[in-house]
Amino acid sequence: MTPPAAPGPAVAEVPGLGGGDVAERYGRALMGTYGVPQRVLVRGEGAWVWDAQGRRYLDLLAGIAVNALGHAHPVLTAAVTAQLATLGHVSNFFATGPQVALAERLLELLGAPDGSRVFLCSSGTEANEGAFKMARRTGRPTVLALEGGFHGRTMGALAMTAKQAIREPFEPLPGGVVHLPFGDADALAAALAGDAGAAVAALVVEPVQGEAGVRPLPPGYLATARELTAAAGALLVVDEVQTGVGRTGRWFAGARPDGRVDADVVTLAKGLGGGLPVGAVVGLGEGPGALLGAGQHGTTFGGNPVCAAAALAVLHVLERDGLVGRAASMGARWRADLAGVDDPTGLLAGVRGEGLLLALGLARPEAPAVARAALEAGFVVNAVAPDAVRLAPPLVLTDEQADSFTAALPGVLAAAAREGTS
Ligand SMILES: *Cc1c(COP(=O)(O)O)cnc(C)c1O
Repeated sequence: MTPPAAPGPAVAEVPGLGGGDVAERYGRALMGTYGVPQRVLVRGEGAWVWDAQGRRYLDLLAGIAVNALGHAHPVLTAAVTAQLATLGHVSNFFATGPQVALAERLLELLGAPDGSRVFLCSSGTEANEGAFKMARRTGRPTVLALEGGFHGRTMGALAMTAKQAIREPFEPLPGGVVHLPFGDADALAAALAGDAGAAVAALVVEPVQGEAGVRPLPPGYLATARELTAAAGALLVVDEVQTGVGRTGRWFAGARPDGRVDADVVTLAKGLGGGLPVGAVVGLGEGPGALLGAGQHGTTFGGNPVCAAAALAVLHVLERDGLVGRAASMGARWRADLAGVDDPTGLLAGVRGEGLLLALGLARPEAPAVARAALEAGFVVNAVAPDAVRLAPPLVLTDEQADSFTAALPGVLAAAAREGTS
């Protein structure tokens, strides 16, 4: 067990940075939106985090597919620290080097055609709000999205999100959004045909539905969606907020085999900033980027040089260390190993997902019990659905670390099954 690092003199001066009896104070100071926190965490390094009692956990969630480089990565830390000590924030009345370099790098990685443009923001929901506004700017009223889809919690992104339980308390939401059955190409063709199709501004899809329990679109669906939206004159918006930036073993899960993302709009966030809040809306080609012109959109923090420096550091290390290819090979091996574990409880029903975005499918709705048992055993995982446990570890996870979870899984499942029957 490594003790928490002692705070430096400047840190010791700022009240509250030291920790203390946080668990007790949390519920009196924070809104109850996230329920009761599982642990108070004080420190991280690589794929490890430590709680306030000094106990170490293997972080197989990475802040929900965010900490691609794990915790306290030296290159990310140095890039952010240097940028903050040089120029931390300016308004968008001014340009900065990191902001422009990040936009250029994203266009390069997406294989973006000439005329493509980037809008930088601070979160996934904000990126999807930008895409929603682009859809409105086409002058067409309808936006298509998929059942099971998750696009964020602000009103526009929530309107595109299908889950009734999180929508209903906030209705009326922005109108015109129609949810189609997941992965059903015939339903999509019908929605994009004739007069109804001529009213469609955009289709928004996740290549792998993350919050629905790690559900990849059926093979061929995205290519069909590309053809159908193009024929109907509608935008294809690919929400890569969770799947993008290497998570699934490719730079972008919706990319074609040649690496190019064939869409009109791509939204990014989560892993892009490696833990700093960075999102992006990318308009691919001449048309989409021009939909948001001068004065039509904006955000104070978007493209903030510290956040842009963080994203540049993430992209650099992913490339330098070959972590995207590694997510593919390691994910495939780990997935097979996990699917093969000895499980007398019969709880494990399969393992799905791509790269290092995986879910343990369960035969019974006992994911919360599995997540609790995993935490007791020293692993951070997430009950993403009643019958699915999500694994979205840092892309720097080592083979030994992955194997340690595989080895622990039978015991975790057994403990969860005992909880279920007691
Ligand atoms: C998490 C997520 C969002 C929302 O991102 P926030 O940063 O939480 O606003 C949107 N789309 C997808 C696919 C996501 O996984």
